[in-house]
Amino acid sequence: MCSLRSWLGLAVGPVVNVFTGAAIGRGWHGHLADGGAVRPAGGNGDDKASWAGPCARGWVAPVNQMLVLRAGQVFDGERALGLAMVVIQDGRISGLDTSGASPPEGAEVVDFGPDACLLPGLIDAHVHLAFDASADVVTSLAACDDGALLDHMAAAAVRALRAGVTTVRDLGDRDYLSLQLRGRFPSTALPHIAAAGPPITTSGGHCWFLGGQAEGETALRAAVAERADRGCDVVKVMVSGGNLTPGSQPHESQYDLAALRVVAGEAHRAGLPAAAHVHGAQAVADAVEAGFDTLEHVTFFTAGGVDADPALLDRIAASGVVVSVTAGSIPAGPAPPPAIAQRMAAIRANHGQMFRAGATMVPGTDAGVTPGKPHDVLPYALRALVEQIGMTPRQALRAATTIAASAIGLGESKGRIAAGADADVLVVRGDPVADIGSITNVQAVFRAGLRAR
Ligand SMILES: [Zn+2]
Repeated sequence: MCSLRSWLGLAVGPVVNVFTGAAIGRGWHGHLADGGAVRPAGGNGDDKASWAGPCARGWVAPVNQMLVLRAGQVFDGERALGLAMVVIQDGRISGLDTSGASPPEGAEVVDFGPDACLLPGLIDAHVHLAFDASADVVTSLAACDDGALLDHMAAAAVRALRAGVTTVRDLGDRDYLSLQLRGRFPSTALPHIAAAGPPITTSGGHCWFLGGQAEGETALRAAVAERADRGCDVVKVMVSGGNLTPGSQPHESQYDLAALRVVAGEAHRAGLPAAAHVHGAQAVADAVEAGFDTLEHVTFFTAGGVDADPALLDRIAASGVVVSVTAGSIPAGPAPPPAIAQRMAAIRANHGQMFRAGATMVPGTDAGVTPGKPHDVLPYALRALVEQIGMTPRQALRAATTIAASAIGLGESKGRIAAGADADVLVVRGDPVADIGSITNVQAVFRAGLRAR
């Protein structure tokens, strides 16, 4: 039986609300306690009238209803724009105004005030909704049947959304449950989920228990085809061993270059990007050579420490492959596993070197794998990018919005405050472009134009 205790604090309340539609995603009328005064534009009606309508509507977006968000600052995914107004219609951003113009007639206006900043919803490029952030996620997972696991995954996704993470890329579930999850709830109730399904791994290899074991050219081609047929968004391969799986060695490769070429080539033929879990240097080099689109972790594990060839760091930077940085843990939370903790300084030094060499880097928290990484941990990863890798706050914000969106194939719809983009918007108090710490001061979250927090 699955331990519900391990899920306490994982927004059980909000999940109930998702199921009933009772409390969250009620629309954009705003919770005044969170800040954000609501009033109808155009001088008609009063606040009470404006409250009654959306409450009565429930959480289904009325067609043609226009919502305007205002704040003292907007970060559009590239830069800070100062005082601005974001116009939302039918779940998408229809306009961004920095001229100080009045809101369109009839629009519902939420003004978060001069101290607030509107940003694109954040993107976590590497999560595991199926892992429960307990001390032993492998045992927790084994104790859950698929029905219970789906409920836990919904709770995990809601928890992420409420922290402003409006898009997650799930790089390893069991039984393709992340695909079921996004089909089960209205899209506005959860973050947008890009999913890999079970990661492809060797027999008994890293995360074999998720069900993605495949070796040999025929089986690897079939594994990629199955993921494409089921509607996965990305093909994930455990190129090296990992820390989570008993008996697996992170510094050792699981697949050779020829096998990796088969998988990456087959994924690309199917129109899917390929993500490589890589710890050891050989795995990193082979994944770059095979043409993978994102490299996950990139820790350069050896048996006893960390060792990166500077030439390989430069090659990664020059290749354009995206480095998904496994960053972020809750403040004063449990320490990472000893194997990680003792190597962390060296891992971060290499990440910093890659960044200075021009590598494309995005945050991918690996949320769910350890107690220090609950599913709403991404904002702390942005702080880590600044404090440990040397990004400016603006660079870290870009990494988690525009750059992340492009990296996972959603550059057209996500990661920007711009006309045509999905209305996934985070509102924080303070100025995260000046002080990245304010990214955790969440005032409101909108998902496809509906208020989720
Ligand atoms: Zn992972």
